[in-house]
Amino acid sequence: MDVFTWIYFIAIVIETAIHTPLNKKRKAEKMSERRITTQEKTLLGLLFLGMLVVPIIYAASNWLDFANYSLPSWAGWAGVVFIAGAIFVFWRAHADLGLNWSPSLEIREKHELITRGIYGIIRHPMYASQWLWVIAQPLLLQNWIAGFINLVVFVLFYLLRVKAEEELMLETFGDQYREYMQKTGGVIPRL
Ligand code: SAH
Repeated sequence: MDVFTWIYFIAIVIETAIHTPLNKKRKAEKMSERRITTQEKTLLGLLFLGMLVVPIIYAASNWLDFANYSLPSWAGWAGVVFIAGAIFVFWRAHADLGLNWSPSLEIREKHELITRGIYGIIRHPMYASQWLWVIAQPLLLQNWIAGFINLVVFVLFYLLRVKAEEELMLETFGDQYREYMQKTGGVIPRL
């Protein structure tokens, strides 16, 4: 494995370490609203494949070698910068969203609209972090399949999810969310 492939898997370990404690805690939460569709479950499964399973196949076997390419080393280091940014944003989003986080669209009984911290700048830091990640991936995993599969799935996921999520937030929080939308950007900070 080359250094950039190693860095990719170290990043996976760091994100797992950030994520696991919160995911355990939130399982005890009572939900008042849950919108999980088959389409969404499928996309979440494909994201898991694109982020973890296919990269493992790429790193541990020679099955995908026919699709390898090779970039100059500055491009690999640019990938490191992007993935470090992804981890930083992921960490802050976890710290600020806390138990209101969900892998899908859920509102808990004690749901709180978070507008502080990184959520005071952008409404979708988790997805911003994933954007940085899918840009980093083809720079670190230099293979047409392992590098790009996550990007392709995430574009689809993002387009469907954000719309449905903002509808749910507007139904739940009304004007409070409308006002919040006016003050913040989606994944890019508003200047
Ligand atoms: N889109 C956000 C949150 C992703 S987690 C991000 O990218 O960081 C998805 C869950 O977060 C959904 O169940 C949604 O109801 C909830 N959510 C989204 N924005 C929120 C906010 N500002 N405050 C509280 N919960 C929020």
